[in-house]
Amino acid sequence: MSLPNVDADYLLAFLSKLLNTPSPTGFAEPAIAFIEQSLKTFGSLSFSRTRKGGLVVAVPGDKSDAPHALTAHADTLGAMVKQIKSTGRLLMTKIGGYAWNTVEGEGCTVHTNSGEQVRGSILFDMASSHVHGTKVNETKREDDNMEVRLDARTTTQEQTEALGIRVGDYITFDPRVEISNGFIRSRHLDDKACVACLVTAVKTLHDAGLKPTRTAYLLFSNYEEVGHGAAAGIPGEVTELLCVDMAAVGEGQTSDEFHATICVKDSGGPYHYGLSQKLRQLADLHGIPYKVDIYPYYGSDGEAYWRAGGDVAVALIGPGVDASHNYERTHQEALLATTQWILAYLLD
Ligand SMILES: [Zn+2]
Repeated sequence: MSLPNVDADYLLAFLSKLLNTPSPTGFAEPAIAFIEQSLKTFGSLSFSRTRKGGLVVAVPGDKSDAPHALTAHADTLGAMVKQIKSTGRLLMTKIGGYAWNTVEGEGCTVHTNSGEQVRGSILFDMASSHVHGTKVNETKREDDNMEVRLDARTTTQEQTEALGIRVGDYITFDPRVEISNGFIRSRHLDDKACVACLVTAVKTLHDAGLKPTRTAYLLFSNYEEVGHGAAAGIPGEVTELLCVDMAAVGEGQTSDEFHATICVKDSGGPYHYGLSQKLRQLADLHGIPYKVDIYPYYGSDGEAYWRAGGDVAVALIGPGVDASHNYERTHQEALLATTQWILAYLLD
């Protein structure tokens, strides 16, 4: 059978809204709630939460035995206030793995304990070339020389505290979403691009009046960037887990922004051979543009579940994302290919 048509406009509109909903690890509830609210319009799904806040969605299939699971993570990179400096500026601690230079100059929001939002920007503490000369490009960016400059009148610790800012407040980075010429440029396409593919796949089935062949559980996890997202939340009767996460594009990689990729090995070792072979056959059968790749510095929620003791076949697919954990970019062709691949798997 041929696959139902994917609504690309819906996919991009949903993705854009999700990208503009801040959700660093530990503070991902607004994104999880938006995903839940969006899926609630698509018929007979049932919803539950893991105790740590992930969203589990059951999509009933023609057969309910040996169900499958698919997962994508809603949490992203971010930061937290580590210390309020005597200058009134903030030192940060990173949430997730990235280099400070990838967020230097970025706009940010500090989310205070009382629910206020204070805008600012992330800067090197010797930012001005006119003041610091060559130190601006000679100094390695570290935890103790990167800071938040708040858009508020403060030059002391006390004045910053008077804004309601405290150690432990979340700091979110401006995603700077821009869609042009089929390209989607934004922070946090990892892994919101794949969340959008999963949600769009569910909408596609709903619009076409189709059900998955087997009941499928979707886990939108909320602690992936720190390594234990899908360690819990996959129902025990599940036999296969398809992890949907971005493909790493760059020198030496086969992945690109116009294909979906199946990752056969990453830092955690090889994925399940049989399930990976099945996915490649499905992509061949449906003419889905895909690549096969290996990611050198990468771990996934599939491995988190394996390490937690999950005894299932695990495979990993996702759209190619350029400059991952930086100012990322992909193309809608990769998103459509990934969505089609999810549909091919659900309908197989
Ligand atoms: Zn990811």
